[in-house]
Amino acid sequence: MNLKTIKDLEDIQGKRILLRVDFNTPLTEPDENGYREVADDTRIREALPTINYLLEKEVKLIIISHLGRPKGKVVDELRLDPVARALESLLEKPVKKIDAITSDTVHKEVEEMKAGDILMLENIRFREEEENCDMQYTKELSTLGDVFVNDAFGTAHRKHASTAGLAEYIPAYAGLLMEKEIEELSKVLDNPGHPLTIIFGGAKMDSKIGVIKNFIGKADHILVAGGIGNTFLTASGHNLGESLAQHDMVELAQEIMMDCQEYKTKIILPHDLVAADDCTDDTETANVGVEDFVGDMKAFDLGKWSAEKFCNMIVDSKTVIWNGPVGVFEKKPFQEGSRTIAECIAKSDVTSIIGGGDTINAIKSFNIPADSFTHISTGGGASLEFLEGKMLPGIKPLLD
Ligand code: ADP
Ligand code: MG
Repeated sequence: MNLKTIKDLEDIQGKRILLRVDFNTPLTEPDENGYREVADDTRIREALPTINYLLEKEVKLIIISHLGRPKGKVVDELRLDPVARALESLLEKPVKKIDAITSDTVHKEVEEMKAGDILMLENIRFREEEENCDMQYTKELSTLGDVFVNDAFGTAHRKHASTAGLAEYIPAYAGLLMEKEIEELSKVLDNPGHPLTIIFGGAKMDSKIGVIKNFIGKADHILVAGGIGNTFLTASGHNLGESLAQHDMVELAQEIMMDCQEYKTKIILPHDLVAADDCTDDTETANVGVEDFVGDMKAFDLGKWSAEKFCNMIVDSKTVIWNGPVGVFEKKPFQEGSRTIAECIAKSDVTSIIGGGDTINAIKSFNIPADSFTHISTGGGASLEFLEGKMLPGIKPLLD
């Protein structure tokens, strides 16, 4: 993909840059004064290279982000003030947060900006025109800037005013995070080192089915676990009792297994699972072979032999993509599977791409440093759609 990036921008000193970032960060519970703070500033840190690059060029920086799902209404708990405070402390520079998006006050503020100033607009999703990509509104928004820079890979799969629409009215460029995401994901999509092994876990198949299909014939191994693995096990005739599985997707899983056979991609199912009566922190567990499931047992994690087998396959690979925890890692008795996979990838010298919000949380909860992996994608849904081979609406206008 030939991207136009901010490195292609010339003579931008004093220019107004509309920068779309994904600062959709978790917030703390409100304190006694009703103040909330950013609970995890990873997403803000990830945009710092772009922000610092632009500030070094002495631009007027106008930052746009969404936070949560206010659904087109003003929701006080989702105002961007805590995010602006967090950015301010990371940059050690004032960040002026304004309570509006497009209004005379905003235009006046922008007019008064000096080169090097930073202004943050209010949560862009407070306006319903954002998600509708309303043309009139987008045009009005675009008049706040001379150039549109999109660094929000996490929302690149959405056709919204601030993720795609702005590019219709002012020149659009990719930020450095956007560029890095596209480069890393394109490499595994177009030219991966083989053997290529993909591990799919997590609760549901729906959002991942497209990626699984896209890699049939491209990947050497597809390892399935978690709820997805249970669905495939059900499709191959195992009765997993009350375990989470999508019974309406069993036929689809069978088709996928047949396609894998035809296109020489090995699909590997778990052969043992960690079972328990309920999913609690102090429940008793048993490591059970998939053949030995009886009654209403429930599987909540990948079994230890399967985790070891998965790890051996990871170590023998050149490239690994991992999306979705292989068990309910949020509960202590069921985190070993995901921990084994995470540590195995971290220790091996494969090229590794990690995607999915919960997968990233799992890695964090195991205290594995982020730099043990080649690339941790910041966009859950966006990275899945990218790996499906789709052209994302937020990326299209950034191409040369
Ligand atoms: P990601 O956000 O990384 O894409 P998903 O959202 O698809 O991952 O799935 C994550 C969830 O799947 C986790 O909350 C985890 O508890 C759940 N999960 C994994 N394995 C199982 C299982 N065997 N039974 C029930 N839930 C599971
Ligand atoms: Mg998730």
